[in-house]
Amino acid sequence: MQHCALYNDGLTPETAEVSPQMSAGSLVFEHKGEPCRWPLSRIDAVDGWSSRPLRLKRTPDTYERLTLPAGSRTDEIVRHIRMHRGIRLPVISKFGVAALTAVVAMVCWGIFMGDVTTRFIASCIPHDVEKAMGRQAMESLLPLLSLNTTPEWCTSAESQAALDAMQSELLSPEDPQPYEIRILHSSFNNALAIPGGTILVTSALINDLQHPDELSGILAHERTHITRHHGTTSYVRNAAFSMVLKMFAANSDTLRMIGGSAQALMLLRFSREAEDAADSGAVRALHRAGIPISRLQDFLVRAAPPPEDGDTTLQLIDRYLSTHPDTPHRVKAMQAQYDALGTPPPRQSPLSSRQWQAVKNACSRRTDQL
Ligand SMILES: [Zn+2]
Repeated sequence: MQHCALYNDGLTPETAEVSPQMSAGSLVFEHKGEPCRWPLSRIDAVDGWSSRPLRLKRTPDTYERLTLPAGSRTDEIVRHIRMHRGIRLPVISKFGVAALTAVVAMVCWGIFMGDVTTRFIASCIPHDVEKAMGRQAMESLLPLLSLNTTPEWCTSAESQAALDAMQSELLSPEDPQPYEIRILHSSFNNALAIPGGTILVTSALINDLQHPDELSGILAHERTHITRHHGTTSYVRNAAFSMVLKMFAANSDTLRMIGGSAQALMLLRFSREAEDAADSGAVRALHRAGIPISRLQDFLVRAAPPPEDGDTTLQLIDRYLSTHPDTPHRVKAMQAQYDALGTPPPRQSPLSSRQWQAVKNACSRRTDQL
């Protein structure tokens, strides 16, 4: 009989070659002429990657050890032990290795070529689900943007009508969907595209604006983010990436550190592409409506760069969200695209000064609507 395992009593350094076999739910072998029977229910694994010997110990009252070398002769025993309920073995099967390889390949593919896939997945998410995701995101954001006070919405019939009129100028047969526009009373100076169809504009931004065409440009930019599911795409990518990282990084500080940086870089890369696309969509919408882009460009120059100093919550959020390309490059690229589109059509219905004042005054009559 071929010996294929090493037995040790756990008390002395002496080892002996034995030939364990499976029999009636037990591992049986002879040691020094005496029959030994290890019931599966009393076997625990010390370690046992498939490429390394599998070390078993007999529990609970002995110190005995049995070492099974890696190799086909012990495969059958290992399989029986793995199948036995209650025994946890860290043995990676061939299927496990294949699955691990597939996940690594997916991550690499996701990092380098996954934009198309994540965009596709995001575009397949039902609108109701996207709206629910947007609501959830907004619920998380509102306390931050309101500095933990009760969120207040600035609204009046006149301001809402003016915002709707402003947005209707941007609609087209190719992009006909109007979105909800809401003004939040907040000192955070920004506009956000909430997945599912809400453009959130803050009162600080409204106060900063000097011309209605600046807001038209901002709305056109945010509309593109929503229409192209940029927020949802980012959510899908980061959700999938986070899930994979959790699988790999559970027991590794290094992976957790690398994973955190990679995740942030990935988000930044995606965001820049999305911002380019949103700028491009805005230029097309403004050109189609006969709205000049000079006001939007003026605003971008005035608003840049984001605050570098300060560590208040709003400043940190602002810096985190500021992933646009640098402003001179952005303004130049917009101009080139606008010019390339040729002479714009005549403008149909610019906002009246009275309508614009209604928007500017919206927050002077703010109401609690949350
Ligand atoms: Zn943007």
